[in-house]
Amino acid sequence: MFQKILIANRGEIALRVLRAAKELGIKTVVVHSTADADAMHVRLADESVCIGPPPSRDSYLNIHQIVAACEITGADAVHPGYGFLSENAKFADILAAHHITFIGPSAEHIRIMGDKIEAKRTAKRLGIPCVPGSDGAVTDEAEAKRIAADIGYPVIIKATAGGGGRGMKVARTEDDLIEALQTASTEAGAAFGNDSVYIEKYLEKPRHIELQVFGDGAGKGVHLGERDCSLQRRHQKVWEEAFSPALNAEERSRIGDICAKAVADLGYSGAGTIEFLYEDGEFYFIEMNTRLQVEHPVTEAITGLDLVHEQIRVASGGGLSVTQADVKFQGHAIECRINAEDPRTFVPSPGTITHFHTPGGLGIRVDSGVYSGYRIPPYYDSLIGKLIVHGRNRVECMMRLRRALDEFVVDGIKTTLPLFRELVGNSDIANGDYDIHWLEKYLAESD
Ligand code: ADP
Repeated sequence: MFQKILIANRGEIALRVLRAAKELGIKTVVVHSTADADAMHVRLADESVCIGPPPSRDSYLNIHQIVAACEITGADAVHPGYGFLSENAKFADILAAHHITFIGPSAEHIRIMGDKIEAKRTAKRLGIPCVPGSDGAVTDEAEAKRIAADIGYPVIIKATAGGGGRGMKVARTEDDLIEALQTASTEAGAAFGNDSVYIEKYLEKPRHIELQVFGDGAGKGVHLGERDCSLQRRHQKVWEEAFSPALNAEERSRIGDICAKAVADLGYSGAGTIEFLYEDGEFYFIEMNTRLQVEHPVTEAITGLDLVHEQIRVASGGGLSVTQADVKFQGHAIECRINAEDPRTFVPSPGTITHFHTPGGLGIRVDSGVYSGYRIPPYYDSLIGKLIVHGRNRVECMMRLRRALDEFVVDGIKTTLPLFRELVGNSDIANGDYDIHWLEKYLAESD
């Protein structure tokens, strides 16, 4: 087991990892920018190292400073959290060269899954269902027309180097296709410095369903069920739940088994998430995230497992603590992402939290690094906390969520709490009847 873990992140996830390490009796080091000297995780860590000024590129993305902090403090492992360097293969390589363990998969698996085309090829090879489309980048118009006719319109043109939902264009006819190819390619060139694009079938009303998986790096894999993250705004997840209201037990175990076998066959190590679009009973792979996800607590709620303990255990060579047969699902869980943003315009609202009161009681969990009097720095993303609610079934979970939202007080800044108070009373949400476009339509209509 590790002696000392350095946490290369900030905010609620830094605190989340710190708690897991403490429980395991492992010493903690946190690195922080000058803007985060007052953060809760900095106060609670055994040691802290200031690694630079506020901009992320000078601090949380500064590999040399982070490696130096490991050397100074004698940390033998790094947990990258999510975002920042969590999917940076070069970072994993550099740590390895310094004999420091990266708590995550191999650099090779990070690289494969970071390249959209390579990821899709690998998924296909592993028997994961994919969206029908071109086998790699599309270079000329004739080829594009042939592929689009083959898979059927509408199609979507996506940038090979894409990310964050950018550089995508939908084409409904052959005429659209030529124009979409050109604009997507020009936009991709400008945004990513790489103008190559590929084609996929466009799904009109899919849900976003993702499978939590774990591998031991030596041929064993398990799945921990799915999360439904269809409620999104501009491709940012807002509300996540486990299980998905749309899946039945047969579909769940079918896709779960495929994913668990895939990570086992790949020799994958640690936590991963295989993301799908789901429509009319079919799953279509979109990507695999090779890290812990923001929404991992809903999976923890329904499985009773601590995913960060599990990550640390696997990375230290202790293997998985469970087999598939040991994984027992219980009840239903929902997570709301509380952002320091206007609940309608989503404009960030940094500033001082004058009063912070969190809900409590059975089935309630709040993961947050903020407190009354905390000043939210304007430099980073606006997530200030996550409310996770667990109930014996979805109805109980929704009832509990409604009362937890009533109890939650954040004064001094704007937050997305009022939006969740609306959503929890909406009949489509109550019925679990929503796709990936639902929230944007709702926001546009209720303006
Ligand atoms: P990125 O890496 O840019 O986030 P993804 O491939 O993950 O790109 O897609 C981002 C989002 O775009 C998906 O969550 C979904 O909302 C939409 N999308 C992607 N591919 C398709 C498709 N084939 N049909 C419909 N929507 C899609």
